Amino acid sequence: MAHTSRFEDITDRQLGERAHAMLRRFFGYSSFRPGQLDIIITLLRGRDTVVLMPTGGGKSITFQIPALMLPGLTIVVSPLLSLMRDQVEALTANGIPAATLNSLQSDDENRAVADALTAGHIKLLYISPERLLADLPRWNSSLDISLVAIDEAHCISHWGHDFRPDYTRLSELRSALPTVPIVALTATADRLTRDDIARQLRLDDHATFITSFDRPNLSLNVMPAPKGARRFEIISTMIDRHPHDVGIVYCLSRKTTETVAAELVRRGYRAAPYHAALPPQQRLDTQNAFREGRLQVVAATVAFGMGIDKSNIRWVIHYNMPSCIESYYQEIGRAGRDGMPSQTIMFYSVQDLISLRHFAEESGQAGVNLEKLKRMEQYAEAKICRRRMLLSYFGETLDHDCGNCDVCLSPPQRYDASTPVRMALSAMVRVGEQVGASMLTDILRGSARADLRAHGFDRIKTYGVGRDIPASDWHHIILQMIQLGIVDIAYDDGNKLRVTDYGRRILYSTEPVMLARNDGYDNYRAGRKTTPQPRVKPDVSTLMLAALVDVREKLSAKEGTASYLVLSDPTIRAIVEKKPLTMAAFAMIEGISERKAALYWGPVAKALSKVSPAFKPVVEHSRYTSLFLFRRGTSPADIARIRGIQIQTVYSHLADLAVACELTHSEIDSVVDPTTLARIVAQYKSLGPGEKMYELYASQYPDGLLTFAFAVARMRGLIG
Ligand code: ADP
Ligand code: ZN
Repeated sequence: MAHTSRFEDITDRQLGERAHAMLRRFFGYSSFRPGQLDIIITLLRGRDTVVLMPTGGGKSITFQIPALMLPGLTIVVSPLLSLMRDQVEALTANGIPAATLNSLQSDDENRAVADALTAGHIKLLYISPERLLADLPRWNSSLDISLVAIDEAHCISHWGHDFRPDYTRLSELRSALPTVPIVALTATADRLTRDDIARQLRLDDHATFITSFDRPNLSLNVMPAPKGARRFEIISTMIDRHPHDVGIVYCLSRKTTETVAAELVRRGYRAAPYHAALPPQQRLDTQNAFREGRLQVVAATVAFGMGIDKSNIRWVIHYNMPSCIESYYQEIGRAGRDGMPSQTIMFYSVQDLISLRHFAEESGQAGVNLEKLKRMEQYAEAKICRRRMLLSYFGETLDHDCGNCDVCLSPPQRYDASTPVRMALSAMVRVGEQVGASMLTDILRGSARADLRAHGFDRIKTYGVGRDIPASDWHHIILQMIQLGIVDIAYDDGNKLRVTDYGRRILYSTEPVMLARNDGYDNYRAGRKTTPQPRVKPDVSTLMLAALVDVREKLSAKEGTASYLVLSDPTIRAIVEKKPLTMAAFAMIEGISERKAALYWGPVAKALSKVSPAFKPVVEHSRYTSLFLFRRGTSPADIARIRGIQIQTVYSHLADLAVACELTHSEIDSVVDPTTLARIVAQYKSLGPGEKMYELYASQYPDGLLTFAFAVARMRGLIG
């Protein structure tokens, strides 16, 4: 499909420069991440595009910047209201006119948005697929649509894990808007889903961009699940290490989310469960509390997913093994979207394998799902750098070990486990392969369990031969035996363990069996013990950090915007590091958009100057904030909107600046052009006695312009 480009006489390089200026001005970032600029240019050139980037990779900017550069409206299709709201809030925080139309807003609110749309006041509109398709026929003539972005585009595919029937109708878009470029974005990497997206959206001649799926800031840890209490110690350690941040514990079942949340609450943490069977209002409350940082942890099923856009999630723990690597990667990917170091841990157990294999077999796509599960198991048992393994799964190669996974940091110690493995095999054979993993452990450890005795398992020769090995180690040994294919689980027969042919060969041979040692969670053994606070006076940077967190909370409350959208963690750190003395220096910091510079410099400077008397930031009169925005090409109307002040005030700031000779001639001309100025002067001079300029002519000019014009005319001696 050939679309008409609106930038025909501009080179890619020039487009790139303009896009850069937008990035700096509206998002406060100094450089694009790999791939972002290419996508932006492709869209500006009018070509359909499919974008695959990991969660947190920076997809939004790739359509938001074209939206700002193209003349009309960009429509963003999104599956969830919470996602729409987050994005609109983030855009508004940066002074970009964005809105959403949805059923949770009142009719009045929706009408106000519709009016603003018709008036051309909105650059980005977030909307659900069904609403878009319902409204489109009406709009097509009245709105100037320049771009359509389809976020979470994998929702259109049956192959993906988030299929949404309302997404399928988006296939009508291509013909409904034949000249408008469409961009589909997703973090789902598998090829099946990827191809399906383009096919279903009818993007026949599209460009595809796949950026690296590597997320080096996530530390990867996998370990066999320790016993319940120890698992909670590990979770507690994690929370204690990040007392002011949030994390997610992903669980396999709804019931587990509730028990995990309850146990964390009992231990004194702010935790709540989240799963699809909870009442909608409770789910919404939990999501909001998490987003606003009122909760420290949510224990959730996979249902706690797409809407979770928070950039400062510092850790994700999988209480159980996920069903496939795609889900796992997406779930851990919710941590550290802001690029700061974040931790992930996955626990796995025999019980998980049993449940997951059962789900896979019942899923109606047993072949595919069992295969996916197998890859997940291999990942869990990896003896090589986990990141290399993950990336190779997504078709990427990493040519070095990552140094940020448990395998890299403490390579698994292997030991000769021939004796325990043969003990286990022998016990299994002696009980006629009629027991599951936990009974087998009890037999080996010589437990006095009643049902064990009832079956006479205490009379076999191997009863109690393994009592020197702790139950948790037995668990790990059996787990590895399953994964190495020495034993198998009979899902159709009470999950009993069966000896495979390979297992039989091992039992009757003398070949050594090497297994990995079970010491994965030593790092987390400390439990709730926190490192003692040194008694020295905190340094200036620490105090500044605290002061900034405080200011952020206040601004967040005042604006009703989530705190991480006001100032992100990396931005706060950058402020402490750079210690800006002027608004201009503040505006250069990563993450400080123009609006944030204008609005937050005052409060930030005030807070910082209180921390250290040696630090003397300059806060000038409000008119200099207007001047700062004006000099960056912002119109008086936009300055008023961004700053939340009257447009008359902006013109009077500019008038004061003109009179003080702080505006150049051409700057003055850009506010009121010479012809208009001459006309105003003529109108003024022709006023009859008793006639007032404002009464007769004010309606011909934007509010406040006359104030400015008179100041200039007087200064130039054109009027008395
Ligand atoms: P996703 O791909 O998951 O939609 P987002 O678009 O939400 O990711 O971006 C993740 C985070 O990265 C956001 O906090 C965003 O502001 C930040 N980000 C995006 N692009 C850049 C950039 N070029 N420089 C710095 N930060 C960026
Ligand atoms: Zn590694």
